[in-house]
Amino acid sequence: MASTAPAMAQSIKTYRHIVLDGHRVKWGTPEAGTGAIVTYATVGTAVRFQGARNCAAMAPLGRLLASSQVGPTTFDAEVRAAFALWSMAANVRFEPARDVASADILIGAQAEPRGRAFTNIEYETEGSTGIKRLTRSLICLNPEERWKVGFDGNLQVYDLRYALLHEIGHAIGLDHPAIASQLMDFRYLERFRVPQPGDVLGVVALYGPSQGETAALDDVRRLANARPPLPDLGG
Ligand SMILES: [Zn+2]
Repeated sequence: MASTAPAMAQSIKTYRHIVLDGHRVKWGTPEAGTGAIVTYATVGTAVRFQGARNCAAMAPLGRLLASSQVGPTTFDAEVRAAFALWSMAANVRFEPARDVASADILIGAQAEPRGRAFTNIEYETEGSTGIKRLTRSLICLNPEERWKVGFDGNLQVYDLRYALLHEIGHAIGLDHPAIASQLMDFRYLERFRVPQPGDVLGVVALYGPSQGETAALDDVRRLANARPPLPDLGG
């Protein structure tokens, strides 16, 4: 028993799960280490979410993308890559939702700009006594901040993929860890653009390990490794 203590202490330090009212939260079956399929969409019209602490009012991303000179096609590719990277880390798959209303994760611009990016999560309060099932996550980006694709050393302008990766981490049940050097750390440092070992441990604890050598995972890998396209020229 004593021999397992150091390993546990280490994993506790490198990730932290979101705990609400004493419960961890995840998508799918509310049981640790079980996989999930999660749908997502970007908002197409202004939309309000009663009672949401963050992202209570969201708008389409058009203005944000235009003022940062990021084309919608580029943005969509960054969204797909961010989801794909989490799928490579654990048994959680992401699919475009059929419509915005039914999407598990919704991405949009803040209608009331503050900070850089926030995530709001909703979960089932009834039911299981252990882990609670997530029911909807909202990710909202500040349209008054400038955004970019890729790292350039300017830590005042955030890389969209990095911000999306971090916020998706929240949207699937991860909190800020007690230590730095992880994607889920709250600091923006441009040192890596993929989930780090602690992030992977945290997400695997919730969803189980990634389902390895499938053709789908190869697609995911290719997408995630693809060089970001050149920024679209407005229009
Ligand atoms: Zn955060």
